[in-house]
Amino acid sequence: MKLKDSKIIVIGGGGIGCGVAYSLCMAGYNDLLLMEKNSDIASETTSQGAGLVGQLRDDIDRVSLAKWSVDVFDHLEAKAKIKPEWNQVGSLRVALTEEKASEFEELRRIAINAGVNTEWISSEKAKELWPYFDFSSTNGVLWCGTDGYLSPSKLAQSYSDETKKMGGEIATGTLVEDIFSLNGKVTGVKTNLGTISCDILINAAGAHAWHIANMAGLDLPIFPIRHEYLVSSDIENINPNIPTMRIPEASLYLRAKNNGLLLGG
Ligand SMILES: Cc1cc2nc3c(=O)[nH]c(=O)nc-3n(C[C@H](O)[C@H](O)[C@H](O)COP(=O)(O)OP(=O)(O)OC[C@H]3O[C@@H](n4cnc5c(N)ncnc54)[C@H](O)[C@@H]3O)c2cc1C
Repeated sequence: MKLKDSKIIVIGGGGIGCGVAYSLCMAGYNDLLLMEKNSDIASETTSQGAGLVGQLRDDIDRVSLAKWSVDVFDHLEAKAKIKPEWNQVGSLRVALTEEKASEFEELRRIAINAGVNTEWISSEKAKELWPYFDFSSTNGVLWCGTDGYLSPSKLAQSYSDETKKMGGEIATGTLVEDIFSLNGKVTGVKTNLGTISCDILINAAGAHAWHIANMAGLDLPIFPIRHEYLVSSDIENINPNIPTMRIPEASLYLRAKNNGLLLGG
């Protein structure tokens, strides 16, 4: 692929870079080129994500952003050729102590203000939704019916495909090797396929974001940390429609993976 000078360059074809490219094209900014060093998009952290989508945050702007993302997932699942495999199964958040329940109450209040319906449910109701768990000794269960889970790789592919339809370009196999700037403003990038100019450069290089920022003389305070999950074999009565569940005090989250469970923390 011959690369052309572009108003906007996005570095990184993971979930974030593809999502940013899609959103910019949706907003009319389609003079855009996304560069991904690997031969496929979504082949680094995004390919490993557990895919839980939770909207509750301790800041109203972040909840609004998460809510907007959920609206986008609804749209892509309904209309896009490549579906993100979005399952809006709802989520349970379990508090094991009074202190955590108070934190959850604050999250609930912020979510309601942002228009995300979230409510406390009884342990009996929680057990109906998640029959394998005994909620009787917990300090509260928060339910958000519009949360769920998806396939992070499929989401990135969906974003990428829709971006291309709107006129944005996706260049895989394109390694950014250096960044050029003049008077403190980025002017272009050097890649393994040549030098390209741009007005705006977006660093969406995930775990490599520090290295990219460093090319522009910036020290970005970001570093990777290890995270893992396990997937069970099939379990009787577990099905893809069971809500996701988070138990922060046990450092545990769960979701269905086909007819088994994905457990991480
Ligand atoms: C085990 C695990 C479970 C997770 N579970 C969840 C979850 O349930 N819910 C949730 O919301 N999040 C979850 N996450 C986090 C989520 O997956 C990540 O935050 C997200 O995928 C990061 O996407 P990204 O686009 O920033 O990074 P990446 O997917 O790593 O994309 C960055 C891209 O930049 C490219 N790149 C880097 N340097 C260059 C360069 N010089 N030139 C060109 N391209 C370059 C890379 O090749 C890569 O493809 C989980 C993460 C892990 C590891």
